[in-house]
Amino acid sequence: MNSNNLSIHRLSVKLLPKGKNKGRFSHDPEGEQKANYQIIDSVNNKVWGYVTIDNTQRGPGLGGIRLASNINNNEVNRLARAMTLKNSAACLPYGGGKSGLIIDDPAFYDDSNLRKQLIEAFAEILFELDDYVPAPDMGTDENDIQIIHDNHSAKLGTQIHDRGGSGRPVEHGGIPIDDWELTAHGLFASLITIENLVDDFKLNNSKVVIQGFGNVGCPTAVKLAEKGAWIVGASDINCALWDPKGLDLDELCKVRKLAGGLSNYSKKVEKKFGPKNLDWLLEAPCDVLVPAARPDAITAKNIDRIDCRMVLQGANTPSSKPVEYYLKHRKNILSLSDFIVNSGGVIGCAVERKMTQDKTYAASTKEKSTRTYTENLISNTISKNVEEIFSRMNDSKDTIFRDVAMDLAMERLKTKEVWL
Ligand code: NAD
Repeated sequence: MNSNNLSIHRLSVKLLPKGKNKGRFSHDPEGEQKANYQIIDSVNNKVWGYVTIDNTQRGPGLGGIRLASNINNNEVNRLARAMTLKNSAACLPYGGGKSGLIIDDPAFYDDSNLRKQLIEAFAEILFELDDYVPAPDMGTDENDIQIIHDNHSAKLGTQIHDRGGSGRPVEHGGIPIDDWELTAHGLFASLITIENLVDDFKLNNSKVVIQGFGNVGCPTAVKLAEKGAWIVGASDINCALWDPKGLDLDELCKVRKLAGGLSNYSKKVEKKFGPKNLDWLLEAPCDVLVPAARPDAITAKNIDRIDCRMVLQGANTPSSKPVEYYLKHRKNILSLSDFIVNSGGVIGCAVERKMTQDKTYAASTKEKSTRTYTENLISNTISKNVEEIFSRMNDSKDTIFRDVAMDLAMERLKTKEVWL
C-alpha cells in the first residue's frame, strides 16, 4: 500500500535485530523482548508498521492492532510490554504482544474497500506469526478481527480454529469487547473497589473528567454517572468540553459518533478546539481523571498542573513511573495503573478463545450467559488485584501502585495459575 495513491501491495515482515531496544526495560531482568518485526511494502519498501511479541512465558502474546497516523516502534514496544503485565496480572494464559499500522492518509478511513484490503494483507503476515494473538485496539474493531479469522479459516480449511485473533462479532461466536463495554466495566469495578479502600472517597457526587470519549471513555462515563458521579469534562480528537456543574451525558453519547464528534455539543460550556488545545482538559479540577486516548497524557510538561484526586488509567501507558512517583509524593494523587484496571477487554478476549478451544467450558459459560459470566470474571479479577495491591502498599508507604502492581505481574509471570 502506498499512502500517496492508496494502493495496496503485498506486505512482508522483517525481524528487527535483537538488542535494538535493549535497556528499555532495564529495571526488569526478564524484560528482553521475544521478537520485534517491521511491516514492509514488498514493492516499494515503505514501512507500514510494527508487530512486537514481548513475552510468551504464559502463552502466545495477546494484544491489539492499532491504526494511527503517528504510531512508531517505541509505542508498539511499550504497549506490548503493558500487555505482558496485563495478561500476567489477570492470570490469563497469555503473554504480551501488540501491533501498529501507520495510516497517514485520512482518505483511508473513508474507503471501506481499502481498509479491508489492508487488513487482509496484514492477515497474510499474521498467519506466519503464530505466537501473536491480535485483538481490536484504537482504530480497529471486531469486524477487522473477523476478516483475519476468515483469512486464516481459508488457509486452514475450517471455520473452527483459534487462529486469527480474538474479540470477534457475537454472531460469529465472538465476544465483542467494545459493544459489551468490557473495559469500561473493569474500570468501573476498580473504582467501586477503591470506594471501600480509600477513606472519604465516594463515587456519589464525585467529579469526573474523561479524556478520549470513545469506546472506553463513553461507557465508563455512563457507568460512573449511574453511581452518582458528575461528568464535568470530556474530550475527543475534535474538542474539549468543561462544565463544573456537569455536562449533559445523553447529548455527549449522541454526538460522539457524528462527524466532528464532541464539537457538535450544543450547550453553552467552556470549549477548546484543535489538537494543541485539547490537553487543557487534563488540568481541570476533578476527583477522578480518566485518560482514555493515546499514551503520555500526563508527562513532566503538565504534571504540576494536574488537579485531581486520582487517575484511572483507561488508556494504555498514559503516564510513566517517574510521573506517578511525582504525582503521589508531591501531589498526593493516586494513579491506578493501566495494566491492572483496564484489563476488562483482554479478559473478554481470553474467554472467547477458551470457548473456542474447550466445548465444556463454552457450554457452561453460555448457560450462565456469556456476557454475565465475563463481566463477573472481570469484576472479580480487577477487584481482587486492586485489593491485593493496596494491602501490599500498606506495608511499604513510599512505593506507588504501579511498582507494587509490577511486582505482582512479574511474580505471576513465573506461575501457571489461570483464573479463567
Ligand atoms: P477509540 O478510538 O474508541 O476512542 C479514542 C478516543 O480518544 C476518541 O474519541 C478520539 O477522538 C479520542 N482522542 C484521540 N486523541 C485524542 C486527544 N489527543 N485528546 C483527546 N481525545 C483524543 O479507542 P478506545 O477503544 O476507546 O481506546 C482508548 C484507549 O484505551 C487506548 O489507549 C486503548 O489502547 C485503551 N484500551 C482500550 C481497550 C478497549 O477495550 N477498547 C482496552 C484496553 C485499553
